[in-house]
Amino acid sequence: MRMSKLFVQTLREFPSDAEVISHKLLVRAGYIRKLANGIYNYLPLMWRVLKKIESIVREEMDNAGAQELLMPFVQPAELWQESGRWDVYGKELMRLKDRHSREMCLGPTHEEVITSIAREGIRSYKQLPINLYQIQSKFRDEIRPRFGLLRGREFIMKDAYSFDIDEEGLDKSYQIMADAYKRIFERCGLETKMVQSDSGAIGGSVSHEFMVLVNEESENNAGENDVFYCTKCGYSANSNHAVSVLNPVITEGKYTKSEIIDTPNTHSIDELANFLNIPESIICKCLIYVVDGKYVAALIRGDRTVEETKLMNVFAGNDIRIARNDEIEEIMQLSGYSAIAGFIGPKGLKNVEIVADETVKDLKNFVIGCNVNDKHLVGANWGVDVELPSKIADIRLVEENDKCIDCGSPLKVTKGIEVGNIFKLGTKYSKKMNATFTDKNGQEKPFIMGCYGIGISRTAAAAVERHHDEYGIIWPIAIAPYKVIVVPVSDQDETQMKVAEYIYNKLLDSKVEVLLDDRSERAGVKLKDADLIGIPYRITVGKTIKDNLVEFKTRAGNITETISPDDAIAKILSI
Ligand code: ATP
Ligand code: MG
Repeated sequence: MRMSKLFVQTLREFPSDAEVISHKLLVRAGYIRKLANGIYNYLPLMWRVLKKIESIVREEMDNAGAQELLMPFVQPAELWQESGRWDVYGKELMRLKDRHSREMCLGPTHEEVITSIAREGIRSYKQLPINLYQIQSKFRDEIRPRFGLLRGREFIMKDAYSFDIDEEGLDKSYQIMADAYKRIFERCGLETKMVQSDSGAIGGSVSHEFMVLVNEESENNAGENDVFYCTKCGYSANSNHAVSVLNPVITEGKYTKSEIIDTPNTHSIDELANFLNIPESIICKCLIYVVDGKYVAALIRGDRTVEETKLMNVFAGNDIRIARNDEIEEIMQLSGYSAIAGFIGPKGLKNVEIVADETVKDLKNFVIGCNVNDKHLVGANWGVDVELPSKIADIRLVEENDKCIDCGSPLKVTKGIEVGNIFKLGTKYSKKMNATFTDKNGQEKPFIMGCYGIGISRTAAAAVERHHDEYGIIWPIAIAPYKVIVVPVSDQDETQMKVAEYIYNKLLDSKVEVLLDDRSERAGVKLKDADLIGIPYRITVGKTIKDNLVEFKTRAGNITETISPDDAIAKILSI
């Protein structure tokens, strides 16, 4: 392709609305253009990258025995009502009505549709196992679309769904997908970590995420996930699922008797600990949340933080947020108190379900709110002054240097971008939607399902997050839009142009994806653009051509050599 004909406009500046480097570079280098918030045009260079990723995904999925199909992007509400998700999916689900006022939605994912396909098409255990996948645009009306392609509203996903006769079958299908995913990301030139992750409140189910680790010390880190991992044994998990063994801390207060004392203006744990001159670890924190519209009080040791997904799962919820001040006021009124946040305790709370983190169990002579402003109960003990809630669970966020649950070594934390995930669904959809097959003994059984996603567009952006420098993108070779760019320094120099054309045509003949920068631009502009758009190899034809020499540059590491045009061609063909 000739640059003079290529549809690409590079920009001098980064776009003003971009926070992270992949968003900045993909816009500036002319790969994407925003159409609306979270909705992007994939311009020709971008589309080439996406198609490369797609074809790697297709090859590996096909090799793993999966079959490609394509489901509709618009889906009828009825299916979602059958699965029960019409009511719980929330605002991310873009709902619309057709001309007959029938309710529809834009597909954010396709469990319902694929289950309906299996329900009609798979009758017997003899047809199982089967894995069906598609590559398609998804729409989710994300609450915070941001970071360009990393979190769009419309994005491209590969989604696969497996159907098995039993759990062992699912284990196998799951493992096959895990192995395929490893190969896919490796082939894309992306190092990933497979980490355990939250799989919602459905007991016993398993899921893993594939994370691209991005631990740059930048303010705008694109890694939206915290990944805890053990350097010794390989344990790793998303913070929403990670567990740990705690290091010992002081859990017994200095108080010899229980009494309510003045603690003016101690609205935070920090202020309270300072005021009383005690460690935070002998305070029992009481936080009010709203889970699916219901009030929940979470008790946790003062030095630790609540992990909201874990807390939500205790109540099998779909939605969680911290309570507003007016909601706390309402609870206080109902319970006959008037305290504000910072002074709340579990005792006497009405219309609130209480759960305690494991950390509070061992507290002795501790400090806790007593629902009176500017006062706390000190020297408290479970069973004497306050009842230990019957619901006790692990609802805490792991912290760096907590101990690994498997081997006891200290845990570390890093930021990660989730590029894919695999999920054991079990019978979650098949039971609700009555999707069954006949087993060996002639009995009707629900399918045992798994689902497996890869963010195609997010993977491209993650590759840019991992592979760039101050000059621009450095595409991994396998997913680069073109492998080589040939740049004559001056388009006025006949010899330079002739040699550049020669190299270009030779490479074209050998089916190499090559760009020729034949534009009438200054050398500086052309070389800058070549770096910015991130083509892995550049062959620059300049003044040294009089000695039959060109510059051969590898974009990664900016390594240059001076060799003959034919050697440059041979080098490309050997790679
Ligand atoms: P996240 O936690 O990042 O919102 P998710 O758990 O909602 O992801 P899935 O529903 O499992 O993701 O979708 C499968 C894959 O699709 C994800 O692993 C991710 O790579 C990609 N993906 C999900 N949401 C988006 C989005 N808004 N923009 C781009 N890619 C996305
Ligand atoms: Mg999501």
